[in-house]
Amino acid sequence: MTRRDMWKMFLGAAAMPAAAQQQAARATNGLPPLKITGFKVIATNGGRGYRWIFLKLLTSEPGLYGLGTASNHYQTHAVIAALEKHLGPWLIGKEAGRIEDLWQSAHYRTYWRNGPVNNNVLSALDMALWDIKGKRANMPVYELLGGKARDAVPCYDHAGGRDMDAAVASVQASMAKGFRHIRVQYGAGGYGGGGFIPAKQGNRPEDGYQGPAFDEETYVNTIPKVFEYVRSKVGMEPKLCHDAHSHLSGINAIELSRRLQPYQMLFLEDVLAPEQIHWYKQIRQVCTTPQAVGEVFSHPYEYVPLIVDRVIDFARCRVSAIGGITPAKKLAVLCEPFGCKTAFQEGGENDPINQLAAYHVDISSTAFGIQEENAFPPSVHEMMPGCAEIRKGYLYGSGKPGLGIDIDEAVAAKYPLGEIRNGGAYGTDRTLEGAVVRP
Ligand code: MG
Repeated sequence: MTRRDMWKMFLGAAAMPAAAQQQAARATNGLPPLKITGFKVIATNGGRGYRWIFLKLLTSEPGLYGLGTASNHYQTHAVIAALEKHLGPWLIGKEAGRIEDLWQSAHYRTYWRNGPVNNNVLSALDMALWDIKGKRANMPVYELLGGKARDAVPCYDHAGGRDMDAAVASVQASMAKGFRHIRVQYGAGGYGGGGFIPAKQGNRPEDGYQGPAFDEETYVNTIPKVFEYVRSKVGMEPKLCHDAHSHLSGINAIELSRRLQPYQMLFLEDVLAPEQIHWYKQIRQVCTTPQAVGEVFSHPYEYVPLIVDRVIDFARCRVSAIGGITPAKKLAVLCEPFGCKTAFQEGGENDPINQLAAYHVDISSTAFGIQEENAFPPSVHEMMPGCAEIRKGYLYGSGKPGLGIDIDEAVAAKYPLGEIRNGGAYGTDRTLEGAVVRP
């Protein structure tokens, strides 16, 4: 590359014919063309054992950059390599303002597309581009998406307990904090709790698996009793939901949905694994328990038949898992005419940039339903000024231009990723006979 070519690439305007320059200037309120000139991948544990991967996109305008997230708790280093070795170098010299074009060309850049790693890095790019556009326009991203369709974003809290009274006390504590929407989990063993046979108990194969063992029928018998008890103590006012985390097969998914109907759920979440989504039509035929689906979907098109056939009520993917703000907004637009709503996923290992990306789509979308709660420790607020806040059950963005959040790289550097034990794998539940249960 010659010095002249370099000059053209980084100044952009010099490479454009005069008429095109004038048109570009009109379209951007007189701002000069903007090129992507570099990138940084920022990996940090945030002072609390997170595995967060952020992308900082640098531009030809001095001091103007965008932030996005590619965080993937279970394939962290694959995402770092995909950004550093593949997406980043491809981006240099591209026009930062052409978000849709860059999303499409980045999506097809890998030839084999979709999947969590590809769409994580696509999300990082997409969010950073929206952040840049918002900062340039001096507006929060939601203004560019159509402006506020509500005053703030309600979130559902996480409650639960190892026994019925502990679950009730936890729901009451959430209500006292101001939450109107509350997810209730139950028992020991994490997701699937209420369905586990304790370690070493039950009839097991000789020399076989001895850990807590998940049993579908036990779970289906237990969970409705929990909600019957909780409703008897707190009444019908709080909107309650429950996450089955894909642990059930078809008929048991129908049976749990049917038995929960009297307790007027906000939704039952992921009662089926993504491999078994065709059962949602059968659930719809026998009961009215609303269904929230798609936490582990990584392609927004996976939702199309479920939404168009009106067999689910909430699309609840993670924005940073499906490719960012651009596909999340399209998903919300698809939901609207079919009466489906969004319930973007958060989860404890998630990061503040993803939370804010979801917020900007939520607050500007008619199809918004609810967002999952996520709160961060002081070390994260110190590292990331502009972090969203939840007060009395509502999520508030900073109101600053772009996504409204920044990262102090010196603070992030104090919290390196560190060793990721066991390859970072998600835990595996098993049955009494030692078979794998879908997470
Ligand atoms: Mg879930």
